[in-house]
Amino acid sequence: MSSGEGAGYGFRRRRDDTVSGTYLGMPAFPRAATAATRDRQLRANLTHATHTIRDKRARAVAELPDWARLRAAGAAIKDRTLRHLDGYLEQLEAAVTAAGGQVHWAEDAEAANRIVTELVLATGEREVVKVKSMATQEIGLNAALERAGVRAYETDLAELIVQLGDDLPSHILVPAIHRNRREIRDIFRERMADWGRPAPEGLSDRPADLAEAARLHLRQKFLDAKVAVSGANFMVAETGTMVVVESEGNGRMCLTLPETLISVVGIEKVVPGWRDLEVFLQLLPRSSTAERMNPYTSMWTGTTDDDGPRAFHLVLLDNGRTDTLADTVGRQALRCIRCSACLNVCPVYERAGGHAYGSAYPGPIGAILTPQLRGVGSELDASLPYASSLCGACYEVCPVAIDIPEVLVHLRERVVEGGEVAENGRRVRLRPARGHAAERAAMRAARWTLDHPGVLRAGQRLAGRMRGLQPRRLPGPGRAWTASRDLPPLPAEPFREWWRRTRGERRETGR
Ligand code: SF4
Repeated sequence: MSSGEGAGYGFRRRRDDTVSGTYLGMPAFPRAATAATRDRQLRANLTHATHTIRDKRARAVAELPDWARLRAAGAAIKDRTLRHLDGYLEQLEAAVTAAGGQVHWAEDAEAANRIVTELVLATGEREVVKVKSMATQEIGLNAALERAGVRAYETDLAELIVQLGDDLPSHILVPAIHRNRREIRDIFRERMADWGRPAPEGLSDRPADLAEAARLHLRQKFLDAKVAVSGANFMVAETGTMVVVESEGNGRMCLTLPETLISVVGIEKVVPGWRDLEVFLQLLPRSSTAERMNPYTSMWTGTTDDDGPRAFHLVLLDNGRTDTLADTVGRQALRCIRCSACLNVCPVYERAGGHAYGSAYPGPIGAILTPQLRGVGSELDASLPYASSLCGACYEVCPVAIDIPEVLVHLRERVVEGGEVAENGRRVRLRPARGHAAERAAMRAARWTLDHPGVLRAGQRLAGRMRGLQPRRLPGPGRAWTASRDLPPLPAEPFREWWRRTRGERRETGR
């Protein structure tokens, strides 16, 4: 049993998932996180893993004296590209087509799943190998393929562990971060035979033995596969080149051995040229795996005679990205290069784990990306902007300087105020999320009071005189807040009166 599953929230992948959500049925973040924080094994696994990665990242970044300038360059390139995204995407499409590839445009998850499924079925194959891909996790591709009778084999080690365990990823870079070695050994022993070559007899929990078991299990899959599905870290518009960076070599096998390659990539992954790519190939490895250079960087441009896949299909995925682009504050989330540095420093992620975020994107980036891609119409998605203490550690480490706290506050405003958002090209009226009516009323009262200084002054004086009656705990909805905090005592004298008395300033006019 998974540590997370022990919490009783059904983190196992549901067989009846719809195409849009392999995380269907997840409760709002606070409830899922409460359960996760009670799981000691999960917390121990997360604390150990995140602290190890974050320390290594800090050392790798400190080696570069121009890191701050690289970071600023990364942010500027992404912003410029997003401003002219339509032009770069058309340039990319023309270059991919000229190189022998075929480009498909997918407005949403359903369209992307339909396109990929039809492409696979057209080959006559019923099995595909997969390179780790956040985009295909986002759209629930494996479940969609399964419904069409196609079996997708994950080949990244951590994704393999998640798949064999009938589990869900909980980290962008290390999807099985919530598992420890003993749990992985048990999953391999119990489930590998259901998916192909069984685990070796007497498999131990030594990392080298586990890696060898995975290597033997996967090797036959690579050699047999006729179709591969991948994502891409970057797409170079000027030449139509796809780029995948990885550490295990499984990506290289999937990208070169099969006859057909289908890549599902979010439209924000485009970069204008090779000079731009150079910046990200420095930012990404140090931020994600704390390496100076990632072990495998695979690049391909369309198809090539006598080498690599004979057919290449690029599925460009929107699925809420255009709507996100329309939000001048929230669009910075589209700069993300999925390094996961923000997860590893987040005190909330460290305690709650990744499943509580209810999407393929956990941690701080998930808290700002998911509510924009999916909207804040559900209880879960409306709760995500609150999954943060706003400490700002995520912003400090982000290699493309996404001001995550700023976007979180912006999205909280959207949740509280209701209002309209763009969804799938339409203006959608938001219902204020449940539980936020009192907060909204309190904010309106505060705004009115601050707009009327005379009322504010009278209220402060009255509060000062009645301070002896101040309760130690707030009643009603405020009770939860004061259950773990001291209510600050009211001062005997309001600040304005103290200022006037000590500084001898003239009485305020109340303007
Ligand atoms: S938001 Fe920044 S730190 Fe977090 S995954 Fe994206 S690029 Fe990395």
